[in-house]
Amino acid sequence: MQIFYGKAALMDYLTAVKTEKSSIGFVPTMGALHKGHQSLMIQSVKENSINVVSIFVNPTQFNNPEDLKKYPRNLEADILKIQEISPEIILFAPTVEDMYEGKTESQSFDFDGLENKMEGKFRPGHFDGVGTIVKRLFEIVNPTNAYFGEKDFQQVQIVKKMVKKNHLPVNIVVCPIYREINKLAMSSRNERLTLHEKEEAGFIYKTLTGAKAKFTNNSAKKTSEWVKNEFQKNKKITLEYFEIADEETLTTCIRKNKTKKYRAFIAVFINNVRLIDTISFN
Ligand code: AMP
Repeated sequence: MQIFYGKAALMDYLTAVKTEKSSIGFVPTMGALHKGHQSLMIQSVKENSINVVSIFVNPTQFNNPEDLKKYPRNLEADILKIQEISPEIILFAPTVEDMYEGKTESQSFDFDGLENKMEGKFRPGHFDGVGTIVKRLFEIVNPTNAYFGEKDFQQVQIVKKMVKKNHLPVNIVVCPIYREINKLAMSSRNERLTLHEKEEAGFIYKTLTGAKAKFTNNSAKKTSEWVKNEFQKNKKITLEYFEIADEETLTTCIRKNKTKKYRAFIAVFINNVRLIDTISFN
């Protein structure tokens, strides 16, 4: 398996192996790989002749230093998980110095307001960090197709906006959410939960599906109130936000419009571990 720890060597390698016919599939990650990440890799390998996975815990997208410090890192285990999918996948695992060259700061982006809602509101600066690193990675890897998870739906919309505004020649492919048996969305942060907490966390998806059923005959306000009430009854999980929003603009649904697609977004804390999830309401 080819592993690159620096961008210059990866760029030289890709230039050498690329032909006019090749397509480059790219899966950017922060490591602590699980089956959700692997499902993105499987799709990439199916659709491209050259495949690159990156592992980089991007400091500029963490608004909470404690979260960055505690973010799980295990490169050796990650390498095995990538090899399980294909030994031909190229791994790019750069250092912070290589990506930021001594200036660990985000570029400032205008995502037409997408950045001010939900994750952007509760994690100030998060999407400037995401935009900065994804743009840099795209410039290095120059992918034909880049694979992102629907779990981070707001991130997907932000990346699509960044690609459009900068006229980048990359196709963004959105992959479904891979879940545990109890429907908890897989996440690297789940590693920080106890087995019991993981079981309890099944409540998140259960409440989302309950909300979806409520939304068919109730307003967004009534549905949101029901969700808040459900979480108030649950002493183990703390709700940070629940939003029903337009899939395209991510604006909060005030009055239902039949021509729009809606989606619920949620962030919760279980014993200081922050988890997010989302479900389509259509
Ligand atoms: P992360 O390492 O958390 O930055 O995630 C890297 C990519 O994997 C992102 O595009 C995520 O949306 C995606 N991803 C994370 N968890 C899942 C999951 N459970 N199912 C599918 N994709 C996921």
